[in-house]
Amino acid sequence: NKQVILKNYVSGFPKESDMEVKTTALKLKLPDGGDYSAAILVKNLYLSCDPYMRSRMRKLEGHYAEAYTPGSPIVGLGVARVLESNNPKFSKGDLLWGLTRWEEYSVIADPETRFKIHNTDVPLSYYTGILGMPGMTAYAGFFEICSPKKGERVFISAASGAVGQLVGQFAKAFGCYVIGSAGTKEKVDLLKNKFGFDEAFNYKEEQDLNAALKRYFPDGIDIYFENVGGKMLDAVLLNMRVHGRIAVCGLISQYNLEQHEGIHNLFCLITKRIKMEGFLVFDYYHLYPKFLDMVLPQIKEGKIAYVEDIAEGLENAPSALIGLFSGRNVGKQVVVVARE
Ligand code: NDP
Repeated sequence: NKQVILKNYVSGFPKESDMEVKTTALKLKLPDGGDYSAAILVKNLYLSCDPYMRSRMRKLEGHYAEAYTPGSPIVGLGVARVLESNNPKFSKGDLLWGLTRWEEYSVIADPETRFKIHNTDVPLSYYTGILGMPGMTAYAGFFEICSPKKGERVFISAASGAVGQLVGQFAKAFGCYVIGSAGTKEKVDLLKNKFGFDEAFNYKEEQDLNAALKRYFPDGIDIYFENVGGKMLDAVLLNMRVHGRIAVCGLISQYNLEQHEGIHNLFCLITKRIKMEGFLVFDYYHLYPKFLDMVLPQIKEGKIAYVEDIAEGLENAPSALIGLFSGRNVGKQVVVVARE
């Protein structure tokens, strides 16, 4: 059983050498009884690289997820096929998405929180992205947290990524004016030409983020979908409109810092009566069926664009994961373990 192991806790930017790909012996059979009375044995097909996984690579305080165990496989979301089941809810051959381990085959002792996949006429890898956790994040973050109104001005950072590309398209379809920022020309082109954003800019080319935002939003920002934090958040605060809303989805620019950067412009929350709200996608999973009803037809009718960045094989999983923090991924970063 090929596995990706976290060697030790990480400080600073994660490196490929913080992980190791190892092969261990495995009996393709569920252990008997006891803790395994409701277990399933799965073959992992697609694994999802997600920024929050960085936080699990260190000892955690006040975090919602548990730290990884050094010497054990990385845990993350993925799409898998059931090979054997002791659980009445799952049968051999079923496809599911949810937490699994970065290895070829996994025994999942408690599979209850995994989602069964019923629609297989779309690429299965989509359940790591547009039809999985990032899709739900975009949906819940935009519609539940941002309280959007038609015509409002929306700004999205890390806009070409798994979550951002979808938030932008939901916001456009809802009738908002949408601008995104991203870290390369290629990504900016995608935002404008593939995802239909009204405008986009490369934040790495802007000396002064405040001036850039003033140029793109002369009348201010109603909704900021926050994926990066740090200097961008500070500049956005100065450019928010009165009664604006900020959905704090992620702060990726801070994840590799031992000490998070301070924010200087928080006073704007008061003067502009801004509502800034953090959220975690798993509080909204009850909306998943409603979300699928909305997004599946849009995918099938080609009304929504979706870009994935596919890495082949578990050997390439460590570099795919760390690529999120240098912006190497273009779109949703997926690792293919097996296609069927
Ligand atoms: P992406 O697919 O967008 O990949 C990460 C991207 O972040 C990179 O490609 C890069 O793009 C950008 N980035 C990396 N480092 C920096 C930096 N220092 N400053 C600015 N941008 C940077 O990831 P996701 O769409 O999966 O996640 C986006 C955000 O949403 C993350 O912050 C994540 O933690 C958060 N999230 C939160 C959830 C929740 O429940 N609250 C659930 C899922 C995700 P570029 O080239 O444009 O810089």
